[in-house]
Amino acid sequence: MHTDLVAALDIGGTKIAGALVDGHGRIQVRAQRATPARQDGETVMRAVEEVLGELTASPLWGRATAVGIGSAGPVDACAGTVSPVNVPGWRDYPLVRRVRAAAGELPVELIGDGVAITAAEHWQGAARGHDNALCMVVSTGVGGGLVLNGRLHPGPTGNAGHIGHISVDLDGDPCPCGARGCVERIASGPNIARRALDGGWRPGPDGDTSAAAVAAAARAGDPVAVASFERAAQALAAGIAATATLVEIDIAVVGGGVGKAGEVLFAPLRKALTDYATLSFVQRLAVVPAQMGTDAGLVGAAAAALTRTAGVTAAGV
Ligand SMILES: [Zn+2]
Repeated sequence: MHTDLVAALDIGGTKIAGALVDGHGRIQVRAQRATPARQDGETVMRAVEEVLGELTASPLWGRATAVGIGSAGPVDACAGTVSPVNVPGWRDYPLVRRVRAAAGELPVELIGDGVAITAAEHWQGAARGHDNALCMVVSTGVGGGLVLNGRLHPGPTGNAGHIGHISVDLDGDPCPCGARGCVERIASGPNIARRALDGGWRPGPDGDTSAAAVAAAARAGDPVAVASFERAAQALAAGIAATATLVEIDIAVVGGGVGKAGEVLFAPLRKALTDYATLSFVQRLAVVPAQMGTDAGLVGAAAAALTRTAGVTAAGV
């Protein structure tokens, strides 16, 4: 009987979540702090240590065999460091070493947050049973990760599958990453909203200019809102098709706030895929909404830790 647990940390720009997770992906103990993202690196680390302190104080801690971390990126799993864009106090920050010290020298596995969500969708969600999958988070930014040959493929530094910064518009707008025409620059929530506003869409009396408000307007038939989602869908489709052509994925899972827009996004996305995914071996590619909820980052970090300790794929745990 599998009684081991792993500790999981989900580190983002707004919250630091921690949990003890069993071999079925069930959360047994949880802890959380707000991320003091604008403070110095040591203050941020103290919040992580407080979360870990609650976990190590649990009577279940003795069964924990490893720690998995899914962190906002970029991460460097080789060096054990993180440099989250939204946490300026952490640049090449030695997170793995610090977490290992706070966790009684347990082994620590570090992956990017997009890779963690992919691990969760593959283990428990929409990509379960698929040996070759791309999972994406489309929200403030666009991230993602890959499952290849039945295994999570984090890549050497833990960032593989970062589809948000594939260029799909060669001479397109500059992206904060330094490139041009990235998927994120066209398909993220803020860019969907910006494009709708530029096109003349105006928010309702509540003044809500979020992508969710644009989605509501698109559902009501506003042509500018519809067009903004169609453009986002086109960029996502081009990125998904490129990925499928390169490594033969058979499913793309789309989550995040924009992924919740429903058919306003998925109908034009499926249509655009027929324009870009044209070769015989990519024509059967399915695109579906994510199934995991707000615990996806924790469950995925746990999957990565279990994979490391068991030496098997998370799906086989
Ligand atoms: Zn970019």
